[in-house]
Amino acid sequence: MTAETVEQFRARARAWLADNMPRIDPASPPAAYRDDERSWRRARELQKRLYEGGFAGICFPREYGGLGLDYDYQKAFDEETLTYEMPLILNTPTFTICCATLLDTGSEEQKKQHIAAALRGDEVLVQLLSEPSGGSDLAGVITRAERRGERWVINGAKTWSTSAFAADYGLCLARTNWDVPKHEGLTMFLVPIAHPGITLRRITQLNGSTEFCEEFFDNVDVGDDAVVGEVNNGWAVASRLLYHERRAVGQGSEFASGSGSEGGRSTPVDYVTLLATTGQVGNERVREMAGRVLVHRAVAEQLVDHVYRSVRDGTLPPAGGTLIRLFHAEAVTLDMDTALAIAGTAGVVGKQGAGLENGLRYLSRQTVCLGGGTTEMARNVIGERVLNFPREYAADRGVPFNQVRRGQSR
Ligand SMILES: Cc1cc2nc3c(=O)[nH]c(=O)nc-3n(C[C@H](O)[C@H](O)[C@H](O)COP(=O)(O)OP(=O)(O)OC[C@H]3O[C@@H](n4cnc5c(N)ncnc54)[C@H](O)[C@@H]3O)c2cc1C
Repeated sequence: MTAETVEQFRARARAWLADNMPRIDPASPPAAYRDDERSWRRARELQKRLYEGGFAGICFPREYGGLGLDYDYQKAFDEETLTYEMPLILNTPTFTICCATLLDTGSEEQKKQHIAAALRGDEVLVQLLSEPSGGSDLAGVITRAERRGERWVINGAKTWSTSAFAADYGLCLARTNWDVPKHEGLTMFLVPIAHPGITLRRITQLNGSTEFCEEFFDNVDVGDDAVVGEVNNGWAVASRLLYHERRAVGQGSEFASGSGSEGGRSTPVDYVTLLATTGQVGNERVREMAGRVLVHRAVAEQLVDHVYRSVRDGTLPPAGGTLIRLFHAEAVTLDMDTALAIAGTAGVVGKQGAGLENGLRYLSRQTVCLGGGTTEMARNVIGERVLNFPREYAADRGVPFNQVRRGQSR
């Protein structure tokens, strides 16, 4: 049998979507607030439809429930889905980060169980990496996992875990050896969020969202089957995870399905409407500002393709994915700053739909520079691992972790 071409696949997807997925107006997608349990139930239900229709996990291998096709098929599918309600909130971190990391580093059983379950809409996966003591120095985590008999017992605290309240499992980085330098004593675990030893609390953000969670681990015991990769080689798993995360945050992951707005607080600014509602259509300066944003959006889109291909053919090292992560943050920040500048006072005291949404969005402006590793850390990665600049000084390099000074005032 000859393989289906991208265009044949697109035509089949178009017909299937029309018969099976709910239609939406892409300019005002149905609300899918990530902090609302109902959004997650709906996303699981829609994912199940995609799976049963044979359109889930286009770039995941067939043996784990996917279709084993190239990124071009996913992109064609994404273009067709723009006018349909899609389970977009499952993309990150479940598919683009957690499943992608399991695919690279998990055991055969983990891949068969968890990637397949996520593609069926039965499992949501999240990342439990950052800790109250800091997130940038990921290799410095102090959550500990100790061997007790045949089990691992985890104690510690994690924070800023996106959507953990809605999740089934979390990839949790913990320290399993304190006598070696920080990168060498880590292990990645896949822990069930509903474990009785985990106390999960939701964090309320400035914009009112309660999507982020913090988790306290009190004697959370798991078996060897929870270890992802090798014991004490968790940094290799974490590095792979960070690689996928940077591409996901830069909107360049082949494991994301569907595009467009999630229908939460992130609907992209429509500058034509904004200029009209604020009475500035004829203002040359304002049109220039809006044009600058639109050019950034177009460049960000092109950069994704360019970097994806360059990493794949070896022209760029895997760390090259960081370029799209950084540019995405720059483009979104410019977008938010510009929208608020154009909205002016309407962004602060106006009504929703007449400019106020730009002020509300601005409240979470900084998230795009933090989530998925900060833009400062992205610049470090690009400097050291793409441009081959000398590595920055680190007082803890090569020092056994139990001798590293941490959080001490003297
Ligand atoms: C939208 C969003 C989603 C997130 N989702 C998750 C998640 O699902 N799971 C999870 O575990 N975490 C998540 N995080 C947390 C995120 O990973 C951390 O916020 C991030 O890694 C930074 O850690 P920190 O906030 O502790 O800042 P710190 O690490 O304390 O850094 C403070 C400041 O110092 C700078 N800095 C630190 N070290 C250096 C250095 N070596 N060189 C230059 N500058 C430096 C940083 O860039 C930053 O500006 C999320 C955060 C956001 C905003």
